[in-house]
Amino acid sequence: MLTAIDRIEGPYSTPEYKQEFYVEGALLKCRACHISLNYKKKSVLDDHLNSMRHEIARNVINNSTQL
Ligand SMILES: [Zn+2]
Repeated sequence: MLTAIDRIEGPYSTPEYKQEFYVEGALLKCRACHISLNYKKKSVLDDHLNSMRHEIARNVINNSTQL
């Protein structure tokens, strides 16, 4: 059975997933948006990475961490 961890470091992961998501308990969460995603559906993850919401959250983080 596919688990959240498989999306980060298993055969179903990608470098992008590993960078953008993290596992909390049994949930896969987005680092930038702090929301849990349905890790069982690759399309959900890909759509989220391409979403405006995610883009905005990432930009906020990048701007706030620049010194
Ligand atoms: Zn996100």
